[in-house]
Order: sequence, then structure tokens, then C-alpha cells
Amino acid sequence: MASYKYARVPANGEHVGYENGRVTTPSNPIIPFIEGDGTGPDIWRAAVRVFDAAVEKIYAGERKVAWMEVFAGEKSFKQFNDWLPQETLDALREFRVSIKGPLTTPVGGGIRSLNVTLRQVLDLYACIRPVRYFEGIGAPVREPRKLDIVIFRENTEDVYAGIEWKAGSAEAEKLREFLSAELGKEVREGSAIGIKPMSEFGSKRLIDMAILHALKHGSSSLTLVHKGNIMKFTEGAFRDWGYELAREKYGDSTCTESDMAKGGDCARADALVIKDRIADSMFQQLLLRPEDYTVIATPNLNGDYLSDAAAAQVGGLGMAPGGNVGDGIAVFEATHGTAPKYADLDKINPCSVILSGAMMFDYLEWDDVARAIMNGIETAIKTKRVTYDLARQMPGSTEVSTSAFADGIIAGMRA
Ligand code: NAP
Repeated sequence: MASYKYARVPANGEHVGYENGRVTTPSNPIIPFIEGDGTGPDIWRAAVRVFDAAVEKIYAGERKVAWMEVFAGEKSFKQFNDWLPQETLDALREFRVSIKGPLTTPVGGGIRSLNVTLRQVLDLYACIRPVRYFEGIGAPVREPRKLDIVIFRENTEDVYAGIEWKAGSAEAEKLREFLSAELGKEVREGSAIGIKPMSEFGSKRLIDMAILHALKHGSSSLTLVHKGNIMKFTEGAFRDWGYELAREKYGDSTCTESDMAKGGDCARADALVIKDRIADSMFQQLLLRPEDYTVIATPNLNGDYLSDAAAAQVGGLGMAPGGNVGDGIAVFEATHGTAPKYADLDKINPCSVILSGAMMFDYLEWDDVARAIMNGIETAIKTKRVTYDLARQMPGSTEVSTSAFADGIIAGMRA
């Protein structure tokens, strides 16, 4: 075990393990958490009460999480003069499964974004975002309940790799000259230049995770979302690698939409249908034919846009959870930011981090705990006593604080 200077390792907990592609969870797992900045402490205080109540309800004291606070962001900078101590990365790696609140991105300074750093350093290559509707919430579309999808967004490559140069910089000019002289490609003088790397390895491991998820949950289809009509060798290759992987590794349990359209034989009647859509068309598809989609696998930038748009469609970011997952290591997180103007007001919606916790319990294979949390949220929303963001979209509702909403979720779980 690594030694920790700032964090305290709970004496009453054990490590989560990882064998043959699955986590193994002891009855008292040590779970590191990062409270988060701004409204982070408000939502974490509420969320951890919900998590402990759900575990207690299901396991009646036989199992219990040993929470371990680790430090990052403003709290860490104020206390230890370090935005992201090495020991925090060590803990997230050593204890495998963790959860975090939102973190401020320091402006200027050495670190671009703490979140991007965490994903890259820990190689959390899949950003998983389930998007579904909760009955009773106001939504901008007529039939929000038809949308029920899980987006697998590649998390380490694409234009998010951070390989870019400022317009007019010596590096950009050098690259422009190289492209012209060596490869015969002209870029306008004085341009900023960014690089979009997408590899077979990076694409296939993401799509593999998405296919496994779809098969495990009996999903009807998996859609590869790409912009391959324009970016043929990056986004187009993502699509081709997806079909190739499905055919070569999962041929017995998948078939393609185009084969089916031609009247071809599927290996099984319940085969997972692999299809693909161009990214721009996918935005209108999710609005017009949401019921046709279940699991989506897509490169980094498409996934970023698509997941926020889908979350808005069912009622907003306050209800949108996420998980950043690699091989045997995962960090679950609220998908919104620190909402600093509401810090310490006990006001904002804690559901994003609570739903991320439900994802985490699913990942730990404490499925009943995840279900209890979902039931609690569904019941609490039906009572119409909700935080301000939901209240303003729900006629006849009463606005309550973050902590009171958490009380409602706990009561709903016990109902
Ligand atoms: P933000 O913190 O997500 O907040 C923007 C607005 O979204 C809020 O003012 C609020 O809107 C609404 N909102 C967000 N979370 C909510 C919740 N739980 N309940 C109800 N409403 C919620 O975005 P930002 O102001 O652009 O970013 C602030 C900081 O967060 C920045 O430093 C940014 O870098 C960081 N950030 C961190 C993460 C992360 O850690 N994963 C992600 C994104 C941004 P209304 O005022 O209209 O109600």
C-alpha cells in the first residue's frame, strides 16, 4: 500500500480487487472520494447520506462502505498548496473505484483541467453517461420518456488530446511548412493548428466496452456515431473498426442493420444490432426517433456534445450522472460544474452525484443498492418536493434545499 501524507486510509476497510475483467468487492470496500469545489461540499454531504442509507437498507449492517477523503482542487490547493497531489492519483489507482464532485479548473497555471488530467493519467478511456427520464420532471420535448440511452464517449483521443498550437506560433508555422513541403497539403498562413489522433486500439477498446455493456443488459442495438463522411480516416475509421470488432469478436451475438435490411441472416433472433449514424443526423434522430437508440459509442468530441444535448432533452444537467472507466479503475462524477454562485447555500440539485453513485454501486456489483437509490429518487420526485432547478419546471411543486431533497430520497427508498 502506498503511504499517504494528507489522506487517512480507513482502518476498517479493504481494497476492491480486479480479476478477469471484473471488479471484486469486499463487504467493506475502501472508496476514495473527492468532495469537489464550489457546491461540491453541499452535494457530497447530501449524497453520502443517501449512499449509506441505501447500503444499510439492503445489507442491514453486513456491508458498509469505508469512505476515504482524498484531495484535489481548491480545498487541496488551500491546505497543501497543490491542486492535484500525487498521492490522490495513487489512491484512485490503488483503491480502483472512487467518486468525485465537480472541480474548478484553475485559470492560468500549469494544469489545463484537473478532470482531463485525471482521465489521461489514469487512462480512464470511456466516459459513460446514461440518459433517461424521471417521471414528473419538466422537459422541453413532448415525450421525454422515450429517450433511454447510455453514451460511451471515447475519453483520451480526438481533438481533446490537447495537441494544438496557437495561430502565428513558431510551432504552427513549422508544421504548416512541413505539411506543404512534405505532404502537399496547404494550410492558410497564420492559422492555429490542432491534431486529431484516433487509433484502432483506442477506438476498439471503447467500442468493446460498449458492446459488452449492451450484451450484458440485453440492449437491442448499438449505434456507432461518427462524422466519417467528412473525416474519413479518423471518424470513418472509428465506424469501420467498430463493425470489424463486432464481426470478429462478437459475430455470434451481433448482426448489422445493413445485413438485416438486405434480408441477411442474423446469428440469433435476439442478436445485438450494430448500426451507425452520422453525428449531425444523430442529434435530430434523438429528438425525432429516440426509441430507436439504446447504447451509443462515439469519439470524444461528438460524445461531449451529444451527452449534454441528450441530458437537456430529459430535463437538464442536474439529473445527469457520469463515470470515467478504464480497465479495473473507475472514477464516477457529477457531470455538471461547481456552480459557484450557489456554493454553501444548500440549494442545488444533488441528483447528478447521487445517480453517479448508483452507477458506481452497479459497477461494484451491489446492484440492489443502485436500485434502491433509483427508487428513492423516483419516489422523491413524485412527492414534488424538489430543488429549485426541478421546481421551476414542475408546476405545483415545492422548492426544498439540497439536504431536504436528500431526506426525501432516503424516505422514498424506505417507502
Ligand atoms: P456549472 O458549474 O455546471 O453551472 C452552470 C449552471 O448550470 C448553474 O449556474 C446552474 O444554472 C446549472 N447547474 C449546474 N449544476 C447544477 C445542479 N446540480 N443543480 C441545479 N443546477 C445546476 O458550469 P460553469 O459555471 O460553466 O462552471 C463552473 C466551474 O466548474 C468552472 O471552473 C469549470 O471549469 C468547472 N467544471 C467542472 C466540471 C467537472 O468537475 N467535471 C465540469 C464542468 C465545469 P442556473 O443558475 O441557471 O440554475
